[in-house]
Amino acid sequence: MEFIDEALLAYCEDHTSSEDQLLLKITRETRAKVLMPRMISGHLQGKMLELFVKMLQPKTILEIGTYTGYSGICMARGLAKNGKLITLDINDELETMVRGFFDESGLSDQIEYRLGNALELIPQIDGPFDLVFIDADKINYQRYYDLIIDKVPNGGIILADNVLWSGKILVKEDQKIDKDTQAILDFNAYVQADPRVENVLLPIRDGVMMARKIQLK
Ligand code: SAH
Ligand code: CA
Repeated sequence: MEFIDEALLAYCEDHTSSEDQLLLKITRETRAKVLMPRMISGHLQGKMLELFVKMLQPKTILEIGTYTGYSGICMARGLAKNGKLITLDINDELETMVRGFFDESGLSDQIEYRLGNALELIPQIDGPFDLVFIDADKINYQRYYDLIIDKVPNGGIILADNVLWSGKILVKEDQKIDKDTQAILDFNAYVQADPRVENVLLPIRDGVMMARKIQLK
């Protein structure tokens, strides 16, 4: 399901700073060589992530779900010189390709790419994380959120991608709900009910939940 009209999307892309050669190459190679190329963030979301980072000026970003490095490079481009991105992925088959892209970005000193199961890696990484981008397996979104929430300082931002799940979150009565859809529904409800954050669900691309940690009174 596409959420906005194709012509409107094209107009939005035409009025969003262009992707550079590296991002175009990552997209091309992902399409040619990697399974499920739809998972890549792409032009609009990539620029949005870069600008969020430029606004927030995080010292440390944690990304859960590197894939081919598109979103990671966009976020790393927004970082100040003293900022770093830690990005996690379980798929070691992509390692050589992704390291190559990080090297080409010229930002590999600011990017820490770790391979393994994020559920096991996150507890080993000290915070604080000023920005977290949750974009790995949907079934574990709530677990990731629980693992990072105490490591996000007040004012820190948590982004979670694909929270509209191609529109499948709109469940019709008596309809069977698959596991991933249920996990996304549970995650969105959990964030919405969490007094530790203020949140907005942005209907950008496949839906991005933005939650900002607030000081509890
Ligand atoms: N953020 C990327 C897309 C991520 S796709 C972008 O926008 O371009 C989701 C990724 O999550 C896949 O690469 C997959 O290997 C990874 N993943 C799935 N389960 C994981 C887990 N348990 N731990 C770490 N990474 C996981
Ligand atoms: Ca995604």
